Amino acid sequence: MQMSIPMLRRSVSSLLMAAVIAPFTAACAQTPAATAAPAKKPVVVVVATGGTIAGAGASTANSATYQAAKVPVDKLIAGLPELADVAEVRGQQAFQIASESFTNEKLLTLGKTISALVKDPSVDGVVVTHGTDTLEETSFFLNLVIRSDKPIVVVGSMRPGTAMSADGALNLYDAVALAATPSARGKGVFVMMNDDIMSGRDASKRINIKTNAFGSQWGPLGMMVERKAYWFRAPVKRQTTSSEFDIDTITSLPEVAIVYGSGSMGTTAVQAAVKSGVKAIVHAGTGNGSVPDYGVEGLKAARAAGIQIVRSSRVADGFVVRNGEQPDDKYDWVVAHDLNPQKAKILAALALTKNTSSAELQRMFWEY
Ligand code: ASP
Repeated sequence: MQMSIPMLRRSVSSLLMAAVIAPFTAACAQTPAATAAPAKKPVVVVVATGGTIAGAGASTANSATYQAAKVPVDKLIAGLPELADVAEVRGQQAFQIASESFTNEKLLTLGKTISALVKDPSVDGVVVTHGTDTLEETSFFLNLVIRSDKPIVVVGSMRPGTAMSADGALNLYDAVALAATPSARGKGVFVMMNDDIMSGRDASKRINIKTNAFGSQWGPLGMMVERKAYWFRAPVKRQTTSSEFDIDTITSLPEVAIVYGSGSMGTTAVQAAVKSGVKAIVHAGTGNGSVPDYGVEGLKAARAAGIQIVRSSRVADGFVVRNGEQPDDKYDWVVAHDLNPQKAKILAALALTKNTSSAELQRMFWEY
């Protein structure tokens, strides 16, 4: 259709009007009505257990010499007013201990506390402040036993809050932001340290003095930057809602021993473990989970006595190959796959809360 000059002018001016009016109309539409309630912030509960993140030293120069588990959770939260921008944060003091003093009983108590919290419809996510020494055991345990897709984030720090360049404040801020993030749902339990979002399954303490202490051979799942989660991977192993373990039905955990492999390791550690009545021995062997020639008979005898034998490795990375260094089928032993000895201990203990055969135990080590 041909347009006359006046027609063209009219349509240009109406376009211009539309261009001026449209943003204004949109802005008006976005302006909340005076009576609208402010957006509700996600509710995150910080369950505190102690550790360096609650630690205090004598001076700002004390980054490694200090007392863990001193600062109560309310003070930790009050000391970080930025948290209020991210979530409605509530504190709960579960324990006030250094994490090397965690026991099976404490793990169960913590698990049941968190299970109750995530069942509360008003709670969107949970953060657990924890010492870094056994943080990897707790995060794996929670990943296996809490039947919820709500984000659960385990966090610690390598320096006490009183030290120069303390890392706890940012770690806690990131952890709360992650627990408040909808896209964190259904990805299992996390370890949040040093900007990295890691899976509670395989994150492990690999350096005992620096702030980049935690890592996994499979890499982080993502990163937190300025309270936003950036994801790069997703876990593929069974966890939380797809787990067959449920904290609500577990009342105790059986004892599992770890025997550490070394040159000339002798046989007394295995003998002592058997004598103490453990239900499983995790053999943290050298290399690919090797067992010395003089150690094989002791482990075979232990298996014959009903104790499960789990071959793991003292080497941080890689995984133990079934029937590789030892004939596992023949001896009825299990391999820990890529789980380090302390994580293998957690899975073995949980597995043995049921009447688990070695074949079932091996299935679990493949699946979790
Ligand atoms: N020993 C301390 C603990 O695990 C170390 C730390 O938190 O970094 O509680």
